Amino acid sequence: MDLQAPLRRLADWLLGTEPDMRIRMVMAAFAVLLMALCIVVVLLLVHAGFGRKDWAWWWALCAWGGLAAVLVLIRSGWSRRLRDPSMTQWQIRYALACNAAAYVLLGPARGVTPAILSLVLMFGIFGMTARQLAANMVYALLVFAAALAAVAVLDEPGHSPALEAGHGAMIVLVLMGSTFIAIRLQHIRRRLTQQKRQLSDALERISHLATHDELTGLVNRRHMAELIGMEHQRCERAGRPLVLALLDLDHFKAINDTEGHAAGDQVLQAFARTVQATVRKTDVLARWGGEEFVLMLYDSDAANTLGLLERVRANVQAMALACGGRSVQVTVSIGVALSRPGEPLDRILERADIALYAAKSGGRNRVVLQGEGTPAAAAPAAPG
Ligand code: GH3
Ligand code: MG
Ligand code: MG
Repeated sequence: MDLQAPLRRLADWLLGTEPDMRIRMVMAAFAVLLMALCIVVVLLLVHAGFGRKDWAWWWALCAWGGLAAVLVLIRSGWSRRLRDPSMTQWQIRYALACNAAAYVLLGPARGVTPAILSLVLMFGIFGMTARQLAANMVYALLVFAAALAAVAVLDEPGHSPALEAGHGAMIVLVLMGSTFIAIRLQHIRRRLTQQKRQLSDALERISHLATHDELTGLVNRRHMAELIGMEHQRCERAGRPLVLALLDLDHFKAINDTEGHAAGDQVLQAFARTVQATVRKTDVLARWGGEEFVLMLYDSDAANTLGLLERVRANVQAMALACGGRSVQVTVSIGVALSRPGEPLDRILERADIALYAAKSGGRNRVVLQGEGTPAAAAPAAPG
């Protein structure tokens, strides 16, 4: 019989399905289990004749009940209203108080209790600040000072001030040592988290640099080739055409020559902004090289494509660019091809290039849709 599914359902019911809740519950359940095992040790020692039997059972009930109550408060969602929904601080302080109480009631066997102290403090290394860890240490020192005072006041038979002083010194050592280690660990954890964030930021920057053109911020040729390849496959499967347009600025060399290279760069940036503002968010414009661009249109037929590209052409022509006090005007020639079923990518781009050539030789500042073999349709050149 497959027990995995019922066990998984039981775990979901006990620990919850939300990841944060599960982590809190696992840690709190671990604390309850540890406390239960400590209680067994204490009760066995009491049974063997050490310490105070009359207190032991009450102590066991309070110690276990307090931590079990935390488990209920977390699982019920009540603890979400607290600043620390995992109630770690509360559990640590409660466990420390129980430990100090066990120290008092265990009589001559009290030397066993400080052994677990460092483990209790370690619960704080995951989410606490160094200040909180230090505060827990001070709290532990205070409750153990009270426990040592209680032992002195009770002055049970066999009580030895020298032995108590030894215990006290060891408790101080364990508390200070483990707090120091906890703070160091936490410091390392914080540094690792910071390094991880820096690394993922750097990775994001590098992958942006590898896929985008620096001047215009557009997708670069290499990345565009990948995008076109993927879209080509999707179009083939869906039986719809892939629409690729080549856009080339007209007489761009002349702009560089008369206005300067920096002005030319500004024109390229303004051109990229204008085209992107004209097409849809899902369409992709890439810098193919120099002053040549590729536009991939999604879900577009011939009529829509020509309408959109005509708007692109007109908007580019209408761009008014101020360069060195003068207004620079630019136009664009566009060649476009719609893929045919089974047509290789190279061939589609080749046909778009043929259309672009036709747009240039037809007088520039126009859109040409590539047809069968020869340019099939040319939008009339806009005035200007
Ligand atoms: P046509 O209308 O036939 O396309 O003429 P054109 O002058 O635009 O074409 P040509 O290919 O002769 O010149 C393209 C120019 O684009 C030449 C090159 O210096 C310029 N260019 C290429 N990349 C950049 C760039 O990043 N910045 C600037 N400012 N100019 C560039
Ligand atoms: Mg050009
Ligand atoms: Mg060119």
